[in-house]
Amino acid sequence: MGETIFSKIIRKEIPAKVVYETEHVLAFRDINPQAPVHVLIIPKSDIADATEIIGSRHAELLGELFDAANEVAKLEGLEKKGFRLVINSGTDSGQEVPHLHIHLLGGRKMNWPPG
Ligand code: 5GP
Repeated sequence: MGETIFSKIIRKEIPAKVVYETEHVLAFRDINPQAPVHVLIIPKSDIADATEIIGSRHAELLGELFDAANEVAKLEGLEKKGFRLVINSGTDSGQEVPHLHIHLLGGRKMNWPPG
């Protein structure tokens, strides 16, 4: 079982500003926001990064993560203006927390290419 800061947030042992929650997914505000809206969407199950996603096993969970992202975008009023979803996976990406998470960023114009 990979124990991370996000495991503690899932178990409500440390506080987080939760914006959306289902049985399998939790969405909460990033502690160091990089945009007016910066929400992290995570599976409650123990998945370290994108390399652990297996289509045949995780198809339903992936659907739930995207449903949650779209729900958060709606709750935050971003569905018309748009938003960016980012998954950092592994050292070169800059992933800091080894628990799969989707960054949902919005509320400002995004730049491309990313840094
Ligand atoms: P990564 O770099 O792994 O893709 O992103 C990890 C994100 O988690 C960072 O944006 C960081 O600000 C956020 N983060 C790290 N620790 C905490 C925490 O304790 N609470 C919350 N809400 N966000 C955190």
